[in-house]
Amino acid sequence: MTGGKPATGDALRKSLRNLEGRSYREYKRLKGDYAFPEFRLRIDHVQGDPFAAPSRISVRLPQQVARFPAQWLTDYVGQTAIADYVTRQVAQVAQSVGTKRGSGRSGRIAIAAPSQAILRRTAVSINSDQLTVRLTVGLPAFGRRIAGQAAADLLCKDIPCLVEQCLRYEALNADEVKCHVQTLEDNEALRHQLRQKGLIAFVAENARLARRSGIDERPLIEGAEPFVLPEADTFLNDFQTNDHNTIELETPHSGRVKGLGIRAGVTLIVGGGYHGKSTLLRAIEQGIYAHVPGDGREQVVTDAATVKLRAEDGRSVVGVDISPVINQLPKGRSSQDFSTTNASGSTSQAAGLIEAVEASANVLLIDEDTAATNFMIRDRKMQSLIAKDKEPITPFVDKVRQLYDDYGISTILVMGGSGDYFAVADTVIAMEDYQPRIVTEQAKAIAVAASDIRQKEGGEKFGKITPRAILPGSLPAGKGDRSPKTKARKDSLMLGYEEINLRAVEQIVEAHQVRAIAQAMIYAQRYYLNETRPISELLDYVMADIERGGLEVLAEGDKALPGDWAMFRRFELAAAFNRLRTVKVRSLF
Ligand code: ADP
Ligand code: MG
Repeated sequence: MTGGKPATGDALRKSLRNLEGRSYREYKRLKGDYAFPEFRLRIDHVQGDPFAAPSRISVRLPQQVARFPAQWLTDYVGQTAIADYVTRQVAQVAQSVGTKRGSGRSGRIAIAAPSQAILRRTAVSINSDQLTVRLTVGLPAFGRRIAGQAAADLLCKDIPCLVEQCLRYEALNADEVKCHVQTLEDNEALRHQLRQKGLIAFVAENARLARRSGIDERPLIEGAEPFVLPEADTFLNDFQTNDHNTIELETPHSGRVKGLGIRAGVTLIVGGGYHGKSTLLRAIEQGIYAHVPGDGREQVVTDAATVKLRAEDGRSVVGVDISPVINQLPKGRSSQDFSTTNASGSTSQAAGLIEAVEASANVLLIDEDTAATNFMIRDRKMQSLIAKDKEPITPFVDKVRQLYDDYGISTILVMGGSGDYFAVADTVIAMEDYQPRIVTEQAKAIAVAASDIRQKEGGEKFGKITPRAILPGSLPAGKGDRSPKTKARKDSLMLGYEEINLRAVEQIVEAHQVRAIAQAMIYAQRYYLNETRPISELLDYVMADIERGGLEVLAEGDKALPGDWAMFRRFELAAAFNRLRTVKVRSLF
């Protein structure tokens, strides 16, 4: 069906009925556009058989039919919020509308399922002209024969029903839509005030940070304690009152919002086990995203260039200059051009640190639960037993200040097990029964009075960051001149036959992001990989293109845009390249 006027919905229904009982492959003939009274349906891709990945369709409604409030459709934030809301509506309704009609995936309608984050996705996009929704459908079959009547019901009855229920503003709950938009607008406003106030993170009073379980990112309901601001601390003297860390920020829809502000510099979160330290850090880590109304973290915001760092033994590292933190490896091995197919806890964390700086991170987050102890600390006793020249690692405690002083990179770390960081922290927050208390003064006093003072091992400066270029031809090849096939999950990515393990990249929240990252890697290889281009510049180019043209720029040739891509950050794209075992790099001294 190319060129000219598209066939009508009625014509599609007739064709489908005529295909009843024919070979499944004949569905392929249906690719193309169909004009329904209120919308256009496009069959973008037809599955090869009823058990294969489902077919892809898109539905387009002109704004005259969708009729969303026009003021939201002209700006990025409004568009993002509406599209995210519609995605969630469709995800819900599709389950009840699409019934099983035959074998395999027959009859199922689905949309790429969203996480708790409000994100730009290809599943739904909206502008002042039209609303576009990308779905998958299982084209019905009996065995391997076409179930034409069922297909006609699916495409010509179920889909219009879905359009009626979720793609027209009139059918939606106007208050909910407005709340979705305003939540995102408030979140954006909070985020914009961070840098101008010298903050790297903000946690609003009454936020609910705890999650339902380790595998369920929805909010904990039962027994969830709302976030309480630090009380005026009796240990502090008069002019160090609690508003030292309590701050009010402005929002367009919720007025002034009070919260805990975390300043640039070095922040330490201490406290007894099970008192909510990791939960706070995790909320800060996820504060790079806006969250849906009801999530509990709607007003938790973090500097957009915040990277969670952790130990990840077993990962591959290619050509990273980790000499600022690791030197004089055994057997004279170089740490200026460090490569391994099987990193240790400490070397993986060192590489992660340098890679984050290389990708232009502004804030690093570290939790003792997932950090390598020998990367983090080396106490007085150990310094006495093992001489400095027999320990390749300079512990992070001796580097964390220099990282801020020399490069302006802040760190927030959870450390309940060692007081060695007291001396280098700007702020110390103690968590007690899930409540923060500012204990900077006491911690400083303890550090000064201590008898087991460590020797500083970090030298004068943090050390040089050596940029690297990713060489062309780093990606596995596809067949002929085609791109490698990709397969994405939230925690791993297959690129051709190469698996990239992303389990330790904790700020990825949707498999859809990984899918887009895979495509961005292919895009980078096609247009930007070059042996003199530093990784940070490569990331600049790719992200600027996406900012200008949307995720659509990553689509290849005239292939239809898949509905299962979501927005990602430069840091996660860098993380995927850095974990690709076939990657080749060149140091740019
Ligand atoms: P820590 O890192 O200090 O050992 P966690 O942050 O892991 O502690 O929290 C311990 C447990 O308490 C977790 O199961 C977490 O979900 C729960 N929790 C944390 N904060 C809250 C809260 N505000 N309300 C209810 N439960 C919470
Ligand atoms: Mg913990």
